[in-house]
Amino acid sequence: MLDSGSRRLMDEIIDLKKQKDVFLLAHYYQRPEIQMIADYVGDSYAMALAARDCSQSTILVAGVDFMAETAAILCPDKTVLTPEPLATCPMANKVVIEDIIKYRQEHPDAVIVSYVNTPAEVKAVSDVCCTSSNAAKIVAQISPDRQILFVPDQHLGSYIAEKLGRNMELYSSECPTHQRITAEQLDQLKEQYPEAAILVHPECPKEIRDKADFIGSTSGIIDYAVKSPYQVLIIVTESGIMHSISEKCPEKKAILASEELICPNMKSITLEKIHYSILNNETLVEVPEDTRIKSLSALEKMIDWTSRDTG
Ligand code: SF4
Repeated sequence: MLDSGSRRLMDEIIDLKKQKDVFLLAHYYQRPEIQMIADYVGDSYAMALAARDCSQSTILVAGVDFMAETAAILCPDKTVLTPEPLATCPMANKVVIEDIIKYRQEHPDAVIVSYVNTPAEVKAVSDVCCTSSNAAKIVAQISPDRQILFVPDQHLGSYIAEKLGRNMELYSSECPTHQRITAEQLDQLKEQYPEAAILVHPECPKEIRDKADFIGSTSGIIDYAVKSPYQVLIIVTESGIMHSISEKCPEKKAILASEELICPNMKSITLEKIHYSILNNETLVEVPEDTRIKSLSALEKMIDWTSRDTG
């Protein structure tokens, strides 16, 4: 339940967005009150397209730093703002750029596939980007005789490798939030709700994915929740997704698998910070032009390959 202070702030942000020609772009893991006033809510792939296609002169990204950087890379003529410059992704930050450059030198014919959860400098030395919603489609289009390095999420990488029956070298990083659930917790929930379907994000480890009725990106999970016949759903991804699921299928019982499934970086963004950010035009997100041009190539390739009809 929102208090009157939050409601007032939400109204003020809606007015400010109009006055200052701001497009408020939010991830599904944002707080519900932020999703409620956003111009667009989506997963990282949909957010990238929405940023590229919006008509406003300023984009405020309610998400972590790599999402804001992606908007800045795709939209050089727009002002991109972050309400919290310290909102970052520990999985993305674990990538050591020198590792990727060394791999490239040692394996000049290999394809480097980078999850969008990477800093711009890593995208700039990658061949193609992907997100959890299109990773299988991207990897499937790489010739079977090419070696692949998948950066940085070892769990998403191993899921795609299993799904496609394809060997890939996996960088060793992972999302700390999606590790905050155990197979035992899921077993207990399934005992309590035997009729429930278990919906799991591929950033979870294999022992969790093995218990899933459905594995998919945030948008995939929401879509499955809405369209599947299951009336009880156990959701294994970040807590922010529960807002969209309850909005889109209020008649279903959706249970977050653990109250620990919270990304503190995503939740560090608040209404107050968004209000301040729009009012003061802070904090600007900038990517050096040479890095932007190089990383744009990997992002554009992702968008192109995703749009292909591969049958
Ligand atoms: S949920 Fe995980 S992958 Fe997403 S921003 Fe948070 S730490 Fe990074």
